[in-house]
Amino acid sequence: FAPSYVRGIAPYQPGKPISELARELGLNEADIVKLASNENPLGPSPLALAAAQDALVDMALYPDGAGFALKAKLSEKLGVAPGQIVLGNGSNDVLDMAARTFLARCTSSVYAQHAFAVYPIATQTVGAQGIAVAAKDYGHDLAAMRAAIRDDTRVLWIANPNNPTGTFLPWAEIEAFLETVPPQVLVVLDEAYGEYLPHSDRLDTVAWLARFPNLLITRTFSKAYGLAGLRVGYGVGHPDVIDLLNRVRHPFNVNLPALAAAEAALDDAEFLARSYALNAAGMAQLVAGLADLNIETVPSKGNFLLAKVGDAARINAELLKRGVIVRPVANYGLPEFLRVSVGLAGQNLRFLDALKACP
Ligand code: PMP
Repeated sequence: FAPSYVRGIAPYQPGKPISELARELGLNEADIVKLASNENPLGPSPLALAAAQDALVDMALYPDGAGFALKAKLSEKLGVAPGQIVLGNGSNDVLDMAARTFLARCTSSVYAQHAFAVYPIATQTVGAQGIAVAAKDYGHDLAAMRAAIRDDTRVLWIANPNNPTGTFLPWAEIEAFLETVPPQVLVVLDEAYGEYLPHSDRLDTVAWLARFPNLLITRTFSKAYGLAGLRVGYGVGHPDVIDLLNRVRHPFNVNLPALAAAEAALDDAEFLARSYALNAAGMAQLVAGLADLNIETVPSKGNFLLAKVGDAARINAELLKRGVIVRPVANYGLPEFLRVSVGLAGQNLRFLDALKACP
C-alpha cells in the first residue's frame, strides 16, 4: 500500500553488529574489531557515563520534553538563544525534521553525489525529489550544486567534513556559496565531524546565523563526545526555523539518560581533547599503513578514511573472515572503496594486518 516514493528509498545500511559476526565465526565478541560506524574508540566520557547512570533512577518519568537544561548549556556555549536550538534523537532526527518541515511532494532537495545517505532518505520519505549533484574530488561541487537549485528546491544539504568521503571544503567557499543561495532554500550544514577538525580549520559557523537566516547547523554527541548509543544531537538556526522544526518534532524525542549524558559531556573538555588527539594519531597510522600497502586513500578530516582497495566487496568478505568489520560504500556509488573508522592503535593495526593478509 505504500506510495512508490517510499518503495524507491534505498534503506540505510548500518555496520554489521559485532555480536552477529562473532556468532558466525564462533569467536568471542572481544576478538572482533569493528571500525565501521565512526564511533569513538575511547567510549563515552566518564562524566557522561556517570550522569546517564544517575539519571536512570528516574526512568519511570518522561524526560524534559523541551530539553531545558541541555539547551541552556548549549546556548551558553554557542552564544545563541535557547530558542535557536532544537534537540534531536541523534542529529539524524534533526535532518529528518528539516525534511518533514520544509519538503513535501512537488518540492526538491539538493545534495552531493557521495553525501551522507540520510539526505536522500529524508527527502524521499516525504515524497520530495532528491537531486544528486556529481562530486568534485569526491566532495561537494558548490558551483554545480548552486546551478542545480530549482524553483521548487527548499532544502540543500552540505556535510563538512562529509561522510563517507571525509572531504572538507574551506569555510570561505561555503560562506561565498551561502551568499548566492535564494532565501527560500534552507541550507543544512551538517557538522557531525566538526570536533575532529584541526584547530586551524575551525570556524564559528554559528556566527553565520545572524547573516543567513536560511541556515541550519546540525551537530551531534555521537562522534567526538562518544554518545552514539544514546542518540542525541542538535540543530542551531534562526528562531523562526527552529520554531517550525519544533512543531514537527516528536514529543520527548530525546530520552532521559541522553539529556543527562550530553549535559555532562559538554563539561568534559579533557575527554574531547583526548578524543581529538587519539583520532589524529590513529588517522596518521592508517594513512601511513595503507600507503605502505600501496593502497590509495582520500584525504579525510573526519574520524574515518576511504581506502581504495579495488574489489571492495571481495576484500570486505576477506576482512570479515578475519574478524574485522569495516564499511563497504558501494551504496554511496564508491564500489572500489572501503571506509574504515579510526580506532585505537591496536585496532588499526588489526585492520592493516588483516588487509595485508587478504589474498
Ligand atoms: N551526519 C553525518 C554526516 C553522519 O555521518 C552521521 C552519522 N553517521 C550523522 C549525521 C548522524 O549521526 P547521529 O544521528 O548519530 O547524530
